[in-house]
Amino acid sequence: MNVTDRPEELRAWLDEARQKGATVGFHPTMGALHGGHTANIARAAAECDVVAVSIFVNPLQFGPGEDFAAYPRRLGDDLARAEEAGASFVLAPTPESMFKTAPLVTVSVADLGRRWEGEHRPGHFDGVATIVTKLLSIVGACYAYFGEKDYQQLVIVRRLVDDLSLPAVVVPCAIVREPDGLALSSRNSYLEQCERAAAPCLYWALLAGKRSFQRAQAAEAEKARSAMRDAMCKQDVFVLDYADVVDPRTLEPLEHASGEARLIIAARCASARLIDNISVNAEET
Ligand code: AMP
Repeated sequence: MNVTDRPEELRAWLDEARQKGATVGFHPTMGALHGGHTANIARAAAECDVVAVSIFVNPLQFGPGEDFAAYPRRLGDDLARAEEAGASFVLAPTPESMFKTAPLVTVSVADLGRRWEGEHRPGHFDGVATIVTKLLSIVGACYAYFGEKDYQQLVIVRRLVDDLSLPAVVVPCAIVREPDGLALSSRNSYLEQCERAAAPCLYWALLAGKRSFQRAQAAEAEKARSAMRDAMCKQDVFVLDYADVVDPRTLEPLEHASGEARLIIAARCASARLIDNISVNAEET
């Protein structure tokens, strides 16, 4: 596995690989790699000839007072995990090798970028879109693997790639969970013991919402919303930010659904803020 902190070196390696006829898979991460990241890398390795992984805690997507300084950084471990999962190239830039000066030109995400996560984290998706545009421009033509764990990010990245004609095919990756249902996340390490014990409540609320949505006549979204809220009321560690039933492409709230919908949830405790989601199909009752 080749490792660099210089974006132009990764670009040269990938250009050479493409010239030799290889297909490139790319998985961007902020490091602190867990089983979700390694599953995505392994899938990319199974589907592409070479796999590039980026490890960069992107300052642009953290708001003031968020956990940028505290975000776990463990490059040695990450490199070992990336290699074991099948990565061929890793870009682990310093903030200075990524941005020689503070960026003058950034990408702004309207409407959808300001809803849900965007409402609780103003500017977050502009920071994500700016770094993803930069990374995809460094990497060049590729299959870009993004997790459904960050569902709104996935929807926005798909629009970003379409709207700016970036040379990537976005590949969505299923959420990897702990045995008790908690979605793997680098931020789970912030959780105190009693918070960790309560944390699967987000997934259980999603499952309660799914059951109620699929049982209700005409797939009524309101029933699912109350089921999710009721489930969250059964514990007092996490405070709900939102729980909703939305269109899987626009993330607009739904009243009734005839096909696929997405249940989304976000909640916070003293040490962390967690998000999760699942897909539901109104036809599968
Ligand atoms: P992050 O390092 O948190 O920025 O995540 C990098 C990529 O890994 C994103 O596309 C995430 O959606 C994805 N990811 C994070 N957690 C999981 C998970 N539990 N299962 C699958 N993919 C994940």
